[in-house]
Amino acid sequence: MPGFWFRLRGAWRDDWRGHSRRAWNGHGPVSPAGELSGFSAADIELGRRLFAGEWKFVAAAGALEALPPPRGIEIAFVGRSNVGKSSLINALTGRRALARTSNTPGRTQQLLFFGGPHALTLVDMPGYGYAAAGKAKVAAWSRLVQNYLQARVNLARVYLLVDSRHGLKSADEGILDVLSGAAVSHQIVLTKCDEVSPAALAQRGEVIETAIAKRPAAFPELIATSAHAGQGIDSLRAAIARLIQERGPSGAVRPAL
Ligand code: GDP
Repeated sequence: MPGFWFRLRGAWRDDWRGHSRRAWNGHGPVSPAGELSGFSAADIELGRRLFAGEWKFVAAAGALEALPPPRGIEIAFVGRSNVGKSSLINALTGRRALARTSNTPGRTQQLLFFGGPHALTLVDMPGYGYAAAGKAKVAAWSRLVQNYLQARVNLARVYLLVDSRHGLKSADEGILDVLSGAAVSHQIVLTKCDEVSPAALAQRGEVIETAIAKRPAAFPELIATSAHAGQGIDSLRAAIARLIQERGPSGAVRPAL
């Protein structure tokens, strides 16, 4: 199913409004040139191939010393607890329970590493924003995340997941500050898009656009996804494949697609 991608610059609003119904039904905006949602069919296919095959749990790390050795390019996912992070990682990798297999008590303070058939590693960062989390836990979370973001040489991008029903919360603004401070490329992915109407989603996009316009380090486009309905999953895979291509021989291994 082609995903959809909405642009925060140029004519994205017209595209979005004009095609949202079709996008909703799983037929993303199609340009005369045959491009799907900002990605060509070739991009989408590259993304599909990048994620096809077997994905495995590699390691859990609660401290820098416990990080597995860097392997290829790393893409990390972060967001508030319950934002749909595990579901998104499972949808990307085509596995039902990859991101939950290590969902053990204490895992909230750990980075989880998943390896695929190519030299790409996905990192599930601990969720934040738990009302019940005490100060010590929040401090430990911040330490781990900041250390990881600053130290990880092969970290190519962080996807910040935002629930499309709720939009950006203050805790998300906090992690955006951390990401900018660490000079890590980052982009917002909206989750659970099946839960909101196209109009509400477009409005949410505009609000976030305004918020991130003040943040030059943030990628200026959002990717709207639904792990349950499949929307945007192809686009996110294609975006990661494109990133790997653009990154080139920068120390990380380029996947042999
Ligand atoms: P995590 O805590 O961020 O890893 O979130 P989970 O992936 O465990 O999801 C939290 C809750 O949101 C679960 O009840 C999921 O079924 C639900 N959820 C996750 N993704 C979606 C989605 O795309 N659409 C809808 N409607 N619910 C979702």
